Amino acid sequence: MADKIFKNFINGKWVESKSGATFENRNPANTDELVGVFQKSTPDDVKAAVNAAAEAYKKWRLVPAPKRGELLFRVARRLAEGKESLARDMTREMGKVVAETRGDVQEAIDMTYYMAGEGRRLFGQTTPSELGNKFCMTMRQPIGVCGFITPWNFPMAIPSWKTMPALICGNTVVIKPATDTPLSVVNMVKVFEEEGIPPGVINMVTGAGSSVGQALINDERVRVISFTGSTFVGRKVSEACATTFKHTCLEMGGKNVEIVMDDADLEQAVDGATWGAFGTTGQRCTATSRLICHKDVYEKVVKMMAKKAESLKIGNGLDESVQVGPVINQDQLDTVLKYIEIGRKEDGARLVIGGQRVTGKGFDKGYFVQPTIFADVTRNMRIWREEIFGPVLSIASFSTFDEAIEMANDTAYGLSASLYTRDIKKAYTAMRDVYTGIFYVNAPTIGAETHLPFGGTKETGNGHREAAVAALDVFSEWKSIYVDFSGTLQRAQIDNQ
Ligand code: NAD
Repeated sequence: MADKIFKNFINGKWVESKSGATFENRNPANTDELVGVFQKSTPDDVKAAVNAAAEAYKKWRLVPAPKRGELLFRVARRLAEGKESLARDMTREMGKVVAETRGDVQEAIDMTYYMAGEGRRLFGQTTPSELGNKFCMTMRQPIGVCGFITPWNFPMAIPSWKTMPALICGNTVVIKPATDTPLSVVNMVKVFEEEGIPPGVINMVTGAGSSVGQALINDERVRVISFTGSTFVGRKVSEACATTFKHTCLEMGGKNVEIVMDDADLEQAVDGATWGAFGTTGQRCTATSRLICHKDVYEKVVKMMAKKAESLKIGNGLDESVQVGPVINQDQLDTVLKYIEIGRKEDGARLVIGGQRVTGKGFDKGYFVQPTIFADVTRNMRIWREEIFGPVLSIASFSTFDEAIEMANDTAYGLSASLYTRDIKKAYTAMRDVYTGIFYVNAPTIGAETHLPFGGTKETGNGHREAAVAALDVFSEWKSIYVDFSGTLQRAQIDNQ
C-alpha cells in the first residue's frame, strides 16, 4: 500500500498536504483497482509551492537557456526509455487504450526534445535604428511563476506541453493535475527530480480545482495561468485572472466536424470519422462529434459508419486487442448517457447504433458505453450543438459545398475540422473558410505534431496557441532594447518618445 501513496512535490521534496487529507484514484475500467492515493491539498500547500517557485525563479531565469535545454534533453531521453511503463500507468488511471497512451507519452517526449532545442534559439530580432550610432534589438524575457491547470484526457501530453516551453523560457512552474489522472504528472515530475532539476523550479500540487486551482489563480505572484479544460471552467478562470492581469492561455472545448463530399474516398472518410469519434472513447478536445455528408453519399456513409462502430472491441485498454476503453468516471458516464437520452428524444434524430451502457462480466466495474451514432441530426438539436465528450457521433446531410462550410462554422467552438474530397479547389476553399485553429484534408479531426501550433478559435481558445514557437509567446515577454553608442545625447531620441 505504501507504494501507492503519492505526495506533492514542493521545493524539491515529496511532501504530504498540510490538510492531512487524501483522495483515491481508481481504474475506470475496473474500479476495484486502486491506482493510487494522492494529496487532497489546500491553498496553504499552493502557497508553499508558489513560495518555492518564486524563490527558485531568481536563479533559474539566469541559467543560460542552452543549459536549461540540456536538462530537457536528458528528461526527454528518460521519458523515452520509460515510455512503455508510463503508458501502462496512464491506461490504468485514465482508461484509454495502451496504443493511445503510448501516443500520449510520445507527445510529451516530442515536446520535450522540441523545447530542449529551443534553448539554443529563443531568437529575438535586430533592427536598424532611426538614429546614427544606435543599435536596436528585441529579446524574450521570462515572466516568473507559471501555474498550470490541466485536464484528464491527455494526462502527460498536456502538462508537458505547458511545462517544457515554460521552463526553457526561464520560468518556474506549479502544476495542478486533474484529480482523475495525477499519476502521470507524478511520473513526469519524478523524471525531472532524478535528472537534477534545482529545487523549486518544478512543483506539483494535487487536489480539487476549486481549492488548488483557485488558489493558484488567486496568488498575485503567479504571473501566467495556462489552463486546458472545459469552456465552462475556462471562462471562470479567465474572469478570475483578469483582476491581477495574469497572462492566460486557455484551451477549451470543441464540437469538431468532418465534412464528406460526394467525390470523397468513402472508406477513408469512414475510417477517419470512426477514429475521430470513438478513439479515446470520444474524450478528445479534437474528437469528431459532427459528421456531415453530401446528400448523395449520406445513406451509404451512415450504413458504413454503423458497421464500423459495431465492430469496435470495447474493454480494458491494457488488452492490446481492445479499441475503445471506458469513459473516465461516473460523472462522465452520467453525462454521456444523459446526452444519449436527449438525442433519443430530439424530434427527428435517429439512433442508428449503440446508446447503452455496456454491462456484464468484465464491464460491470467500469464505465463503458457503446459507440453511439445518431443520424438525421439537425442544427437546432442539443446533440449537434453541445460538447458531449464521449463516444457519441451526430450525422447530418447537406446539399451544396457552401452549405457544408456554413454548417461547419455553425458552432460556438473552433478547434479542428476536416474535409474529405478529391477536389483540390474545395480543399483549399474549406481550408480558408472554416474558422478553426486546426484543419485537416483527407485526415481525421484528431492528431497533432508538436512543431505546429495547437489551439482553437471562438469559445475553444483565447487566441494563444500551445506547442511550436507559438508556445514561447505564452511563456515569455518581449523586451525592446536601444543601445546608444554615439557618446552624445541625440535630440531625436527624446522627441520621438
Ligand atoms: P474541467 O474544466 O472540468 O477541468 C479542467 C481542470 O480545471 C481540472 O484540473 C480541474 O480540477 C480544474 N478546475 C475545475 N474547476 C476549477 C475552478 N473553479 N478553478 C480552477 N480550476 C478548476 O475539464 P476536464 O473535464 O478535466 O476536461 C475535459 C474538457 O477539456 C473538455 O471540454 C475538453 O474539450 C477540454 N480539453 C480541451 C483541450 C484543448 O486543447 N482545447 C485539450 C484537452 C481537453
